[in-house]
Amino acid sequence: MNGTNFLLGVNFVIAMSFCLAFFVVSTRSRSKIAARWIAAGFAVASLSALCELAVAHTEWVKAFAIGAFCAVLGGLQLLQVGVARLYSHRINPHRQILFFLGWTIVDLIIYDLPRGSVTHSVLYQAPFGLIALMAARSVFQQRSRAGIDQALALLLAFTGLHFFAKALVAVTVGAGGTAKDYIQTNYAIISQSSTAIMIVAVGLMLLSVLVLDIMTDERSNSETDMLSSLLNRRGFEKRTLQIIRRFPKEPHAVIMCDLDHFKSINDTYGHYHGDRVIEAFGQLLTAAAPADAVVGRMGGEEFALFLPHVTVGAAVGVANELRRRISALVVAGLPQEFRTTASFGVAPWEPELSLAQNLQRADMALYQAKKSGRNCVRTVGPEATTLSVAAR
Ligand code: GH3
Ligand code: MG
Ligand code: MG
Repeated sequence: MNGTNFLLGVNFVIAMSFCLAFFVVSTRSRSKIAARWIAAGFAVASLSALCELAVAHTEWVKAFAIGAFCAVLGGLQLLQVGVARLYSHRINPHRQILFFLGWTIVDLIIYDLPRGSVTHSVLYQAPFGLIALMAARSVFQQRSRAGIDQALALLLAFTGLHFFAKALVAVTVGAGGTAKDYIQTNYAIISQSSTAIMIVAVGLMLLSVLVLDIMTDERSNSETDMLSSLLNRRGFEKRTLQIIRRFPKEPHAVIMCDLDHFKSINDTYGHYHGDRVIEAFGQLLTAAAPADAVVGRMGGEEFALFLPHVTVGAAVGVANELRRRISALVVAGLPQEFRTTASFGVAPWEPELSLAQNLQRADMALYQAKKSGRNCVRTVGPEATTLSVAAR
């Protein structure tokens, strides 16, 4: 068993391992289809190693040599489709099939040319290089590229160039006279090792992109309230504290609000419709709150807003506007005449108090609003400040 036989075996195992890894990742990823295309790409490309071994060790040299070429080409094209899907880049399936058939015919035509000739080497490697470069372009074209996406684009571009470099090396060091000679050459060792490195690098980079996506999704799920689509308490606190840390000296305001007589909505229309009211209220808050406000569902039918760079006076204006819009809210599935109201408590952000204490102050104002007959806005009075400070 020479070095190339061994490397071919290694490449097969690596490509199949990546196929499995992408399949597993696809079960958790929002880019499930992209991950499956990539898994299929690795599976098909891995067959090229088996074909190369068959070329060297069986009598069906031409069939397996063309098979090896088709496996690399097809595998790379499937990978390209996966990458394009991952980066929402449309590619034309008809053009893909024509590309595949066209270059397979070219490979048949050049089959009898000496392996190390310029024509054979360049025409053999060119389609592989072109596909990798087109995949790099799909990634580059995406507008909001993170560092990892740029690294992937560069790696794909480098992979594309590496195929053209392989053609040069084949011409320089010779790639054996025929397909069967190939496996005995030094070029085969260089070619298979560089391919192994590229497979691992591209595979790991693509896996990282998918795994980072999954981690981002999980984090955002753990901070989102599914019913209202607003932040949950954890997400609200995290986002608010980030702003506070950035702008500790600026005026900010906190609003707490609670739907009025919500129990009777549940009692009259059932829990399902109660949920629809919470959902509609969440949508209203998202649409009507200032763009930089942090809006969260703190539990039940209780919501909080953190308004950065806003004085308490302006926050009262925001709360009154929200109150007005809620009283006009129409909820799908409930009678046309159904209306609901909410009460609001507003407090200026006190930098020397904790987030919990600031929320507690807004809650006290909310309690005043409830006591005053509901469907109104109240601000925190001086006695609340005394209470909160005393509670520290
Ligand atoms: P108030 O005007 O004083 O706020 O009266 P209320 O009836 O709204 O009283 P309260 O805020 O204490 O009631 C909250 C009710 O909200 C109690 C609970 O059954 C209901 N609730 C809490 N979470 C959910 C939920 O996720 N879905 C539904 N449908 N109901 C919920
Ligand atoms: Mg309530
Ligand atoms: Mg409540």
